[in-house]
Amino acid sequence: MIEFQHIQKDYENETALQDLSLTVQSHELFVLVGPSGSGKTTLLKTVNRLVVPTSGQVLLDGQDVAAGNLQTLRQHIGYVLQSSALFPNMTVQQNAGVQLEALGWPKDKIAARVRELLARVDLDPAIYAGRMPAELSGGEAQRVGIVRALAGKPNLILMDEPFSALDPVSKRQLQDLILKLHAETHTTVIFVTHDMQEAVRLADRLAVIHAGQLQQVGTPEEILQAP
Ligand code: ADP
Ligand code: ADP
Repeated sequence: MIEFQHIQKDYENETALQDLSLTVQSHELFVLVGPSGSGKTTLLKTVNRLVVPTSGQVLLDGQDVAAGNLQTLRQHIGYVLQSSALFPNMTVQQNAGVQLEALGWPKDKIAARVRELLARVDLDPAIYAGRMPAELSGGEAQRVGIVRALAGKPNLILMDEPFSALDPVSKRQLQDLILKLHAETHTTVIFVTHDMQEAVRLADRLAVIHAGQLQQVGTPEEILQAP
């Protein structure tokens, strides 16, 4: 469970988040939706401490994320961005295994885990494991980014506009993939998007954010029925 408690984030010239409180349940696919500049990314980044709130706290299963060791915190959190940010001179296999290597997994176990995950995101490991990022389409690169995020079996995955640069067909395929993976693993996901259609399609529940404040929280049905 993730509890955002009275999160405030002030930058020099503006307030990005204003006294925002919200609870995400374990195993939920939870979507933060709102226009560009509304504070979604800032809120997401308070979870893995890429942003430190001006006041308020984030509790992960009851533990204040500010209290523990940063590396330990991030080891249990997968992170997927709009650009998959793969290392250009490393193969798919090496990119996907980078976190496992840092965790000290043996090479054969890393290879097995990466191949298993590549197959689960519909990238044939025999074809893709040795490819370089430059040889991948945008959708394929995002699949590898998802594999990298899942590799260490995180308790939580943060996704920040992961599909917004993709063409409509790839976007739809990747949305289906996320729904499938979430149904299989029940890993908690917080997914940021400005696209309400995407939010409604994916979310167990969603929060509508506007100008740093929470406007609505609920299931897609509840949000769509609200006046
Ligand atoms: P969203 O993800 O909804 O597009 P952001 O969380 O990125 O919104 O940004 C919220 C507001 O905070 C925006 O007005 C943005 O310009 C501002 N902001 C974000 N990061 C910084 C920063 N590092 N310094 C100053 N202002 C920032
Ligand atoms: P599953 O139960 O889904 O097969 P595991 O958690 O057992 O997945 O992980 C797959 C393999 O990786 C196992 O053989 C396990 O021993 C190994 N493994 C898991 N976590 C670590 C770790 N932190 N360091 C080294 N090896 C690990």
